[in-house]
Amino acid sequence: MSTNDFLAEWDRDNFFHPSTHLAQHARGETPTKVIKTASGVYIEDRDGNRLLDAFAGLYCVNAGYGRKEITDAIAQQAGELAYYHSYVGHGTEASITLAKMILDRAPANMSKVYFGLGGSDANETNVKLIWYYNNILGRPTKKKIISRWRGYHGSGLVTGSLTGLELFHKKFDLPVEQVIHTEAPYYFRRENLDQSESEFVAHCVAELESLIEREGADNIAAFIGEPVLGTGGIVPPPEGYWAAIQAVLKKHDILLIADEVVTGFGRLGTMFGSEHYGFEADIITIAKGLTSAYAPLSGSIVSDKVWKVLEQGTDENGPIGHGWTYSAHPICAAAGVANLKLIDDLNLIANAGSVGAYLNQSMKSALADHPQVGDIRGEGMLCAVEFVKDRDSRTFYDAADKIGPQVSAALLSQDKVIARAMPQGDIIGFAPPFCLSEQEADKVVAATVRAVKTVLG
Ligand code: PMP
Repeated sequence: MSTNDFLAEWDRDNFFHPSTHLAQHARGETPTKVIKTASGVYIEDRDGNRLLDAFAGLYCVNAGYGRKEITDAIAQQAGELAYYHSYVGHGTEASITLAKMILDRAPANMSKVYFGLGGSDANETNVKLIWYYNNILGRPTKKKIISRWRGYHGSGLVTGSLTGLELFHKKFDLPVEQVIHTEAPYYFRRENLDQSESEFVAHCVAELESLIEREGADNIAAFIGEPVLGTGGIVPPPEGYWAAIQAVLKKHDILLIADEVVTGFGRLGTMFGSEHYGFEADIITIAKGLTSAYAPLSGSIVSDKVWKVLEQGTDENGPIGHGWTYSAHPICAAAGVANLKLIDDLNLIANAGSVGAYLNQSMKSALADHPQVGDIRGEGMLCAVEFVKDRDSRTFYDAADKIGPQVSAALLSQDKVIARAMPQGDIIGFAPPFCLSEQEADKVVAATVRAVKTVLG
């Protein structure tokens, strides 16, 4: 029995994997994939296969794998002080430095950062802070949160509810009643094919207005959205969408949470996606790219407007009753400091912008004419290809045909390139580390062309 077989058996017998078909995996019908080492944009498994990771883990290893600057900082921090908490004004050099580095990079209206461990808990924090905010302001009914269908905001109780994907609700008794959903800004999937982009934006705005009307603005606290829809299909918004949505929210005194777990710290070629699209959030969620996933760390960046009310709340009620043991964990904070510094030093955000544009352009040149390619879209170092059965009538495949998963499997088996079959629809997504070179982008595109040919002809 090879080491891998041994591990596969242990894995099947003991390991409860997230986002996995549990029964198939336990029966050994899906393989155990053991990843051993990684460098740059490549990961290597136990069998010595070198795979080009064009999804940067789960779009999180932004700086690329094997960065000694970050691993050294982690080792040094672990040796010096592996842990101390951040309750009642405690901190460490790393956590205080990182908070300053985040605020130095954040939009001007931002005031403070609360640290968590992952994107889900950061969004849970955001919802609690917003409920607290409205209670302090004497608006006890203003509590509902609007999210978009196909949005992804985590898989906790409230955050799984915010996530607008059926799989995350079905059989879990979600969404909770405080969460309501509105139309996704997904032009390619619009119902009315005759709509122009600007007509479709007007339609999204009208949908939001009518939801607010139905529920009552006095009952709605906030709207949450990713600047570019991520897990829901990698969908950049149509021109003018964010400005129009922001205007509606302002009119009804509804806060705006920008979930920048994927877009924060450079994935669109700019520091934050909200700046990229010219809107101003009241709270920004950050995670993945904050440490490039070298250690788990997230944050809720709160604006002056929110912060002032939170301060007032503690003057009236005592210390804020919200805290995690590992908030601002020093090892994670040290990873964050080293990561943000490395991203600056190597100019990686500019690279994400320029090589990302090159990747998107090359993908379009190579595949736009294929009869089963319905849409190629992206922004910065994000790119997606969506497949259709028939382009003229925009007929989609049945889910059972599994075209997206088949294309992604062909990419892996033929050319050892990892792309993600997005969970809803026949879409393959690319979100490589920011250090991707143009040659590596060429390799990703050539592998995609070959995979599409294998699956669809
Ligand atoms: N928000 C967004 C936009 C995300 O993409 C994700 C994770 N993919 C989350 C929140 C949840 O983050 P986590 O998995 O770290 O809890």
